[in-house]
Amino acid sequence: MVSRRWYHRMYTMEVSKALKIIQSDGPSRGLHLNVTKTKIFWPSFDPRREAAGVFPPNIGKPSAGVKLLGGPVSLGLQYCSVMVHSRVGKTLQLMDKMKQLQDLQSELLLLRNCSGVSRLYFTLRITTPSAIQTAAAHFDKHLLQYLRQIVVGDEAGFGLIQHLVTLPLKVGGLGIHTMSNTGQFCFLASCAQTQHLQTTILKQLSVPVSSLMYQQAVQTYNQVCGLSDTNFSINDAAPRYMKSLAVIYFGVVKEKIATDFSLSDRDLTLWHYNIISHPMDFLKAIPISGLNQAIVLKQFRSVLSYRFGIPLFGKDNTCSSCNRHMEVFRDHALHCASDIRPKLRHNLVRNVLADMCYKAGVAARKEAVLGFLSDNATSLRPADILVYTWEDGKDVCMDIIGVSPFTSASTRDLSSGHAISAAIACKRTKYLDKCLSHGYSFGVLAFSIMGALGEQTLFSAEIKKLSSQSGCKS
Ligand SMILES: [Zn+2]
Repeated sequence: MVSRRWYHRMYTMEVSKALKIIQSDGPSRGLHLNVTKTKIFWPSFDPRREAAGVFPPNIGKPSAGVKLLGGPVSLGLQYCSVMVHSRVGKTLQLMDKMKQLQDLQSELLLLRNCSGVSRLYFTLRITTPSAIQTAAAHFDKHLLQYLRQIVVGDEAGFGLIQHLVTLPLKVGGLGIHTMSNTGQFCFLASCAQTQHLQTTILKQLSVPVSSLMYQQAVQTYNQVCGLSDTNFSINDAAPRYMKSLAVIYFGVVKEKIATDFSLSDRDLTLWHYNIISHPMDFLKAIPISGLNQAIVLKQFRSVLSYRFGIPLFGKDNTCSSCNRHMEVFRDHALHCASDIRPKLRHNLVRNVLADMCYKAGVAARKEAVLGFLSDNATSLRPADILVYTWEDGKDVCMDIIGVSPFTSASTRDLSSGHAISAAIACKRTKYLDKCLSHGYSFGVLAFSIMGALGEQTLFSAEIKKLSSQSGCKS
């Protein structure tokens, strides 16, 4: 069976001749044409097609359009739109099924990688943006409802955040794209990638450069990204493919985030921490309980809410450990002095670093008592990690400290990195002279609960390097 769809009014008679040749000469060469499954499409009506003897009577002659290699071939937006709606419907059905997993971590992974808009990439690439608008609005509405369910459940606070969660991970979102966003560059990328092939096949007849749909798409893209027409040429020696166009598009969105979304100082600080390397890596982890990579639903939702600045408590709550007032964002809970968790977090980092030193063959001791006295003759705390012969041959006392940008009044400057530098300055004032006077060096390994690291915390990177040099894989 051979199924073919021809389309071009100029070639009606040529197609008729070709069809007759295939029908007469084909069988002897093993080519059998199934006429009832063959369709011929004309973008504009040609009366010659109805003349007797031109085409077999039982051949398909659709008037609105045809599907070719999974894509719509039609000049009618309605035809393309129906096809897109049908595919969006199937993707939404799949998303509904995913909700039954009751596992937010897995659901987000699936949404980002294979069950969300990525299932529609092919459709978006082959369909002009003007034909996807209603389907995109329908899809995006359902996607945002789903994301709302994942991030806040039935609680409030998703209003402003919905603009952020649909951005890429590198731009501070969850990496779950909407159809409206991806529709801005998918079709263009497809035109750029296939223009050489189309020019070769169609010669001068219908190259995408001259197509109205392409012109509209490039105009919208340039407008959104603030580019001039000369910035984008489909005939570039190295065509801008989908990823490059996406980087430009989201780069523009990133630049405008503070103004477009009216973020508060706190929201902006959170967003700055969300776009640095690694803090959002937990979203990429495949949930495997045995490797301690699975996060339970409540914990996962709490982390997301905190990172996106969604209030977690009502106004009049108190801390169950110290009875102090608990603000709506739960900052106090993360650094309450009466709670065991900040201490556990500190010890976990210290133990991991000490372990890394051991595996890298670096001589170090944790909780090293050095017998130093403070100015008022009380004993100073032991060094968290004492690294032997490390800096200029000296032993270095490493102090580990975890900070939060939202802790005390002294660190109320919410600018990124301020909390860490303030904590380091405080530690150096307290311990640096003491250590130097006894012949030791002093270092502060500071980390923020939001994922930022102090400069000296790069010590861990050096250890890691030594570790790999010595052939240790952990
Ligand atoms: Zn407390």
